[in-house]
Amino acid sequence: MTLPDRNTIVCQQLTVHSDFPLPDYQRLLDDLILQRGDIDRQLLLPVSPMPIHIYLFDNEDHFGGFMRLHHPDFPSRRAFFLETKNRMEIYAQAGERMAEDLRHEVTHGYLHSAMPNLPLWLDEGLAKYYEAPRGRHGLNRPLVEHFKNRPPSKPLNVDLQRLEKIRPDEEMTLEDYAEAWAWVHFLLENRPEYREILRGYLADLRRDGKAEPLSTRLAAAIPRAENAMVEHLRKILFPL
Ligand SMILES: [Zn+2]
Repeated sequence: MTLPDRNTIVCQQLTVHSDFPLPDYQRLLDDLILQRGDIDRQLLLPVSPMPIHIYLFDNEDHFGGFMRLHHPDFPSRRAFFLETKNRMEIYAQAGERMAEDLRHEVTHGYLHSAMPNLPLWLDEGLAKYYEAPRGRHGLNRPLVEHFKNRPPSKPLNVDLQRLEKIRPDEEMTLEDYAEAWAWVHFLLENRPEYREILRGYLADLRRDGKAEPLSTRLAAAIPRAENAMVEHLRKILFPL
């Protein structure tokens, strides 16, 4: 059970390996390259050109067999981003959700090539934002559905400090992913000044290796940040 490597194409920063012919995927690859420009522009991150190797498995069995053999400790998922000192790799499987999976994992690659110390919640929140197809302003339909399907008795929980406490080695729940995405969506899509707060945080973190938490910055800039965020989310869930 080995990595798929019969075909290889290089598309700028991305090198894609597969056992099946790749030309069908040119449009998807072009989109992944454009996605890097989106991230550069929105987050003002100088992404490094470090190559990202994408291994596309032709089916779930091949993917699952490889992962059980080589990474038996990994949780069961459709795709993975792996990073070592000088190499970034993505493992994904062909299928209906391949494009979404690649947009998600490639986001991790772009972000990690710009800064090594992003908190887990923000890394995943951004990946959930950018996994939505380009041009949709990060609107992640499955997570919108997740919020819509919660029982009406359960209040929308948007405690940013709780997310900030998630450790790098922790496994995030679907609820964590949904809330992380919602905060990122709020920061990037609500008001330009909120986007500046996120940019400032990322710039400080990148320069100094640590930064005052986003929750503290938001509390100083927005009187009731959590209410503003819930309001933002409600407008997404129940547009007029
Ligand atoms: Zn992820």
